[in-house]
Amino acid sequence: MAEKKDSGKKSAAPKKEKKKRGPYKAGKSCPKCGAGVKLAEHKNRNSCGKCGYFEKK
Ligand SMILES: [Zn+2]
Repeated sequence: MAEKKDSGKKSAAPKKEKKKRGPYKAGKSCPKCGAGVKLAEHKNRNSCGKCGYFEKK
């Protein structure tokens, strides 16, 4: 009794992980960097991770 092992074919499915975008939400954009750069939303302020601009809420 010899079991044949499947050899050769190995399909390694790449793991897909969705990256969390953190505090960044689609909403306010940085007035300095332009519309493409969104401001990160914090408790009391919105800040830009690119240029450091922030504004109080
Ligand atoms: Zn900016």
